[in-house]
Amino acid sequence: MISELQQLVNLVCEAEGCQIPDLQIKEVRRGGRYHRRTHSITLPKWVLVKPVEYLWYYVIHETIHAIGYRGHGKLFKERERRWLKEFGIVPVYAKVYPKKLQSLNGQTFCKKIKGIMQ
Ligand SMILES: [Zn+2]
Repeated sequence: MISELQQLVNLVCEAEGCQIPDLQIKEVRRGGRYHRRTHSITLPKWVLVKPVEYLWYYVIHETIHAIGYRGHGKLFKERERRWLKEFGIVPVYAKVYPKKLQSLNGQTFCKKIKGIMQ
């Protein structure tokens, strides 16, 4: 699984002309993140049991940070939306994070229930 996810990171970074960060999966209770100092992405282990579209969303989100977008402003979201679309995923944003991920024709892949993506 990790190698497929690393390939996803590579694909986005190569297209964006960015140095490829290392992807690591760790046992952390909360969220994963992009570490600017080490140019690496950490994913929490719990995300691996989520629907694959959520996993891709998660990796793409952190990769957009890795290509140089800090924060979650308009430009970040545009980039994130564009890359998700490449993989057939449409985010329905709450504020920063999506409350739902849909297919291009509006089918729901997964949504937040009690604050947790399922
Ligand atoms: Zn973020």
